[in-house]
Amino acid sequence: MTALLIAKARLIDPLAGIDGTRDLLVEGAAVKAVAPAGSLVPEPGVLVFEAAGLWVMPGLVDPHVHLRDPGFPEKETIESGLKAAAAGGFTTVAAMANTAPVNDHPEVTAYMQEKARLAGGAKLVAVAALSEGLEGKRVAGLRAMAQAGARLFSDDGLPVDDPELLRQALIAAAELGRVASLHEEDRGLGRLAPVNAGRVAQALGVEGSPPEAEWRRVARDLALAEQARTPVHIAHVSTRESLAVIARAKAAGVAVTCEATPHHLSLDDSAVLRLGTMAKMAPPLRSPADVEALRRALADGTVDMIASDHAPHDAAAKRLAELEGAFVDGGRTRLPALSAAERAALGAAANGVVGLETALGIALVLVHAGVISPARLVELMAINPARLLRLGRTSLAPRMPADITVVDPLLEWTVEPGRFFSKSRNTPFAGLTLKGRAVLTIVEGRVVYDLLAATRQHGGG
Ligand SMILES: [Zn+2]
Repeated sequence: MTALLIAKARLIDPLAGIDGTRDLLVEGAAVKAVAPAGSLVPEPGVLVFEAAGLWVMPGLVDPHVHLRDPGFPEKETIESGLKAAAAGGFTTVAAMANTAPVNDHPEVTAYMQEKARLAGGAKLVAVAALSEGLEGKRVAGLRAMAQAGARLFSDDGLPVDDPELLRQALIAAAELGRVASLHEEDRGLGRLAPVNAGRVAQALGVEGSPPEAEWRRVARDLALAEQARTPVHIAHVSTRESLAVIARAKAAGVAVTCEATPHHLSLDDSAVLRLGTMAKMAPPLRSPADVEALRRALADGTVDMIASDHAPHDAAAKRLAELEGAFVDGGRTRLPALSAAERAALGAAANGVVGLETALGIALVLVHAGVISPARLVELMAINPARLLRLGRTSLAPRMPADITVVDPLLEWTVEPGRFFSKSRNTPFAGLTLKGRAVLTIVEGRVVYDLLAATRQHGGG
């Protein structure tokens, strides 16, 4: 049996009530012992990882990623996506259902899980569709997919427009002990506009997506969940109005949880002027006041978890050729507005950014700034998403599964998309220098990412 001693780390394990320097011994797939620093003496054959100055935490869990498999291997595969996850410090990710074919059938659920098992990186939790074909017309066969292993239900990528169908789906998921995750967008109001309604949309001469396209739908769906007495999860909240609606529902006892993304927590819509479609996603980047409200909500508990919404896209899908020169870092070269062809390209470009390899680094910016504590980070990126996915207790107490993330909180690094394990490069954070990243990721006792080994593979640096 392989054994690994992580020595003299700062162990941050809120559910065990620990935030202090400890030794942690892993044996086989489980935690064997947690003891005062320096007290565990390794037996012969035990690997020792000297971790003074590093943080050790329960393995990070991402409740919202798109791995594009089956269907779009040019953007991502389960293998590449799970490698990217491990490199980002994630031990488990929840893979959304908007694949081709859609994960609305237990055979697709089983395919995803089997491929992940063979890949041997981070673990994959399959998210199954709420409606057949993501069409919003008939509730999918949730029971069969739950039996095949699905642990969350979502039509993410698309909203569920029909309230009666959503009511039925919420009840069906709740009967299975599972939660539905909702992408909230009233397409009658937003009309899939490429950027937030406001100053930036005006400067570009494009239609904007107003905040009410999100928050009115959030309000509708929380009322539905309250009437049906079912739990519900709101994906990628982007507006301060949505946060107010969610906070009120929580105070009234509705079983609602919600997530925010690193990009909505760190960028406002002015990023579109610099980055074009690299900053285009749904929901769009919002105003500085919305970013501020999201950060406060992370700290005060309105937002329960951070989700990367990792959404890989290739250069063609992002229309980079058509928009060449229309946006440049440092500001737009041409004002006042885009040409008609450029507006069309911006509108047609795929939504989303990759995030698995930058999520922790961006979240650590908020820790270093004092917005959230390291223990709160563990709640937001491990404990609460694991609870949403019904994965059981997330702690590094003895006998618990050894899903572990080791973080160097002070290591400075620059985001270089060319070095991503992800197959896609669509990040708004290219060139940004961050402080802190995962240096070792362990899944059930197996090392699935080791920064030093990875650096050697890449040839230094
Ligand atoms: Zn979504």
